[in-house]
Order: sequence, then structure tokens, then C-alpha cells
Amino acid sequence: MADGEEINRAEISVTNECVFACYFCFMKKWRDMDETLNLTEQDMQFLLELFPDLKKIEVIGGEPLKHPRLAEIVNELVGVPKVTVTTNGYLLPEGQEGVDYIAQFPENTKFYMSLTSYHERNYAVRNRDMWEQAVVFEQTCQAAGRGNGFLYVGPDKVQKLDFIRGLGITGKVRFNDVYDLGGGADVEGAKEYTHNLSNRIFMGPNVQFYKTARDFSQGINPLDLTQLNPQT
Ligand code: SF4
Repeated sequence: MADGEEINRAEISVTNECVFACYFCFMKKWRDMDETLNLTEQDMQFLLELFPDLKKIEVIGGEPLKHPRLAEIVNELVGVPKVTVTTNGYLLPEGQEGVDYIAQFPENTKFYMSLTSYHERNYAVRNRDMWEQAVVFEQTCQAAGRGNGFLYVGPDKVQKLDFIRGLGITGKVRFNDVYDLGGGADVEGAKEYTHNLSNRIFMGPNVQFYKTARDFSQGINPLDLTQLNPQT
């Protein structure tokens, strides 16, 4: 952490649980624990006290929708201009139940469905209806009046974007270069998604802080809170 660096973006893993077991999951060692670790509303309050200037919070898991109080947690993030929830979409209820679920979240919440698991090796553990789920996911978010987008990691980005648009999906597609370093600059009509690693923090299990989620996944020690904020 550079001296004087203002933290204005946070990524938080609200649970270690997931319905899948993707072989490439960067949270694998945490996800495979016997114990369920869920962050709480109080943890969100602590985060905002520690970093009052957060302009964006990205909520991830595990699978966030496994958290029984996800909506309550996100509703604690009052005053943060941008909040995203990235889900695999599998647990989103169908029909009006899904709309009602999404509508519980603040209006500035934007939902991303991760298409990251679209890998041949992963097909055995990922529901084969993922693309149908993506269409329903977008329709559900739109019916609830919440923004939505998609996160894709995998080969053949140009063809995949054509395929996604062919399904009638209109939401933004981000190409995550964290895992495959492919970026998205080569894809016309797609916005390149790159993790800007400055000015951000990752909050993981047991309210431990890391520079990035990757640091956590690679077993790097948590940051010392007193170094993050002299007032703590
Ligand atoms: S869906 Fe996401 S969180 Fe769940 S196992 Fe796969 S990569 Fe990990």
C-alpha cells in the first residue's frame, strides 16, 4: 500500500459458499472450507467507517446469492455511488419471485452475471442452461429496474460477443483480463475491462483486508489495518 493512497474502490467477498466447484476458481481454497463464512451488516458498517470515501464497491463471493442476507448487506452500503453484485445467476429465482428479489436492492445496484465458467472442462459442474439463464437474468434485472451486465472470461471473444448479442442480450459485456490477460480491446462494441489495481482494497473472510483478491487467493498475508488507516 503506497503511502497516502486514497482507497476509493473495494471488492468484498460476502460468502465463501457456492453452488459450483469450478476448477479454476480463484477462491477455491476458501470455497472448499467446511465452515461457512458470511460477512455481516456490521462488517459493512466497519468497512464504510474505515474507508468513508468509497466510490464503488464490487460484491463477489463465492456466490453472493448464497448469502441469506445479501440484500440487507448491500442495503448497508448507503452513500456509495456505485455498487455491483457479480453472480453466476444460478440461484436467481424465476419469474416474479426473481423480480421481487432483485427489487430489494438499492436502485444503484448493478448486477453482473459471470459467464466465466464457460470452459469445456467446467461444463460438468456448470449447468448447461447458462445461456438461457443469462437471458432470464437480464430480463429479471430489467423488470426490477436494476442495471445488468455480463462478465466473460474465455476464448473467442469476438465470436462470443456475436453469440451473446444474437441471444437478444443488450447489457454491457465486460471481458475480464485478470485471468486470461486477453483484455477486450480487440472486440468491437465491447468495453475493455481491466482491473485498476490502485486505490482499491479487498475485504475477505473474517474481515481481513488485502490489496487484491488475487493476493488473498495466493496466500499473501492480510494487510495491517494500522497501515491502511492511521486512525484505526
Ligand atoms: S461459480 Fe464462481 S465462485 Fe463459484 S466455483 Fe465457479 S468461479 Fe468459483
